[in-house]
Amino acid sequence: MAMMIHEDACIGCGVCLPECPNGAITQASDWSYFIRFGLCSECFGVHAAPRCVSLCPIPQCIEANQKRMETPEDLRRKAHRIAVQRAFAAFDKAKGQ
Ligand code: SF4
Ligand code: SF4
Repeated sequence: MAMMIHEDACIGCGVCLPECPNGAITQASDWSYFIRFGLCSECFGVHAAPRCVSLCPIPQCIEANQKRMETPEDLRRKAHRIAVQRAFAAFDKAKGQ
């Protein structure tokens, strides 16, 4: 399952944003952040547990999105797809410089 940020619990500290290996976290306003479902792989293959959850200072602020069920195999494939996309994006960026 992708993770989700509870808007009413988030204090907008920004600690989570730079720590996501997939760039899945976005700032929505001065006080709220959200996680893009398509880019959250629960840190599969990178961290033993969701990094954002480990770092967030507010208990239960970030939780699994129960509406987005995914198996470990789904997460593995998703993590692979995201890694390939990010590698191509980095390559394109380097080429353009
Ligand atoms: Fe990013 Fe990992 Fe949090 Fe998903 S669980 S939003 S991949 S840090
Ligand atoms: Fe919100 Fe937690 Fe991220 Fe801080 S670490 S911006 S409280 S979700």
